[in-house]
Amino acid sequence: MMVREIDLALLRAREARDAGADLVEYRVDELCSGDPGEAEVILALIRESPLPCIVTCRPTWEGGACDADDMTRVALFEALGTSDHPPAYIDVELAAYTRSANLRQKVNLAIDHDKQTRDVRTSLVLSTHDFDGRPSDLTRRVLAMSAEHAAAVHKVAFRARSLRDNLELFDLLRDRSKPMIALGMGEFGLMSRVLAPKFGAFLTFASIHKEEATAPGQPTIRDLLDLYRFRSINPETRVYGVIGWPVGHSMSPHIHNAGFEGVGHDGVYLPLPIAAGEPGQEGAYESFKATLLALIDHRALDLSGASVTIPHKEHLVRLAREQGWAIDPLSERCAAANTITIERDEGRLSVAVSNTDAPAAAACLGEAMGGLAGKRIAIVGAGGVARAIGAGVAAQGARVVIVNRTPERAKSLSESIGPEVCDVLSMDDLTASPPDAIVNATPVGMTGGPAPDDSPVPPSVLGACKPGTVIFDTVYNPIQTPMLRAAHERDLPTIDGVAMFVRQAALQFEGWTAQPAPTGLFERIVAEHLA
Ligand code: NAP
Repeated sequence: MMVREIDLALLRAREARDAGADLVEYRVDELCSGDPGEAEVILALIRESPLPCIVTCRPTWEGGACDADDMTRVALFEALGTSDHPPAYIDVELAAYTRSANLRQKVNLAIDHDKQTRDVRTSLVLSTHDFDGRPSDLTRRVLAMSAEHAAAVHKVAFRARSLRDNLELFDLLRDRSKPMIALGMGEFGLMSRVLAPKFGAFLTFASIHKEEATAPGQPTIRDLLDLYRFRSINPETRVYGVIGWPVGHSMSPHIHNAGFEGVGHDGVYLPLPIAAGEPGQEGAYESFKATLLALIDHRALDLSGASVTIPHKEHLVRLAREQGWAIDPLSERCAAANTITIERDEGRLSVAVSNTDAPAAAACLGEAMGGLAGKRIAIVGAGGVARAIGAGVAAQGARVVIVNRTPERAKSLSESIGPEVCDVLSMDDLTASPPDAIVNATPVGMTGGPAPDDSPVPPSVLGACKPGTVIFDTVYNPIQTPMLRAAHERDLPTIDGVAMFVRQAALQFEGWTAQPAPTGLFERIVAEHLA
């Protein structure tokens, strides 16, 4: 934490201890200007600290807020290290430590190492940071750290520009010569922070409150311990995640991690952002392909499965075709898939892609309607979800009707489902010949969408529905959408978007773990999340 005021820092440190932290880092960047009383203030903080601590005074030239010169900072470290209540660690930048023999000597006087003759109890974290990206001389920096015998811990942190940067950080950890911290900053680096125990990292950093993070991309302690179950992560833990852009607000990590805990599966599920690129640009596919293949090829990572969402569902089928992976018939039919399942049997890799949106929606409708054969189902919308639902219900013998704002897209979807089982109609046509179910596959009615207060289906259409016509809204935020509320007023049976979301996730979960998904738990978590 950044220390500005001692009482507040101690309050935060107690909160961190109570939340489950083992160690606290005090960033004293703003308390080091060379004033003689500063060391006393920081020593008082260390003395009162409820947890062992690292004291760091990061200079501006390494991304910190301290503009004192190196010798002023070292004088502070000397005072702390040789005091009665020294911090467990002081963090000194490799660049400062190696550019001056004088500075190195002074730091070494204040820390514990094998040539130390004094009774000092502070150890040295030797660190290097790059807030722009992977430093081009990363290997040289790591070698330079290894040459410094007085350091107890090596720390490498740089801004991850894609998920692939995490893989190099994992390799550094696996090749470490000393206890090591290797972290990717920014949203692409979250994986390195959460998976630190899988690769034997010395520690990971987390913030007490989101707005108090001391580096970009730091999770909160709560997220680390409760959402990602950090304490249970070990070298054997299998890795799963949701690939998409953006994925920061996805509910999938919440349900799958809780599900793994519920059934005792040794896995962790992470957001796995892969940038979208500009619409229509080939770059989005190329970065999806390069990233996913690198993650799968990294044997020690043990990526075992992933959910795939917008904008990469079509990319997944394209890549699977290129790579010769198994593709289920519904993914082939939709030209889009949302699930990857990866198995490694004695080194032999097998990758399968599937579409769980289509069977999930079909199962929700089939249950509510007592089977789908011969039923007439109207789908409003002609995008990805409409395509999956159309393929899913047609595969079970339903007739499909597409109603869409843009008639050309409706026509093209109808042709791909099969003109013999799929018609294109208007809302007025639906009033004249009501279907057995109506499905909203547009974002109309969704919080934050184009028309959050509207129903995609006008009252005249709902009014013309026969009793028992099933009204299904794929929108799940809010759970009770304007369309579902209007259906309730007419006593029509409904299916909400949470039912489909939970079902598609349950099918993924069962494919990955070979255990029944705790769907009740999934539903409760989604409802809490959306409340
Ligand atoms: P998409 O590919 O972008 O397609 C959206 C469709 O909605 C298009 O056909 C579009 O019509 C239509 N549309 C958009 N805005 C409209 C408006 N203001 N009025 C009328 N029609 C409009 O999106 P998608 O991936 O299919 O997702 C659609 C919705 O499904 C999402 O918003 C989400 O709420 C829901 N969803 C639910 C789940 C679940 O598990 N429950 C999973 C994924 C998605 P045009 O063709 O004319 O552009």
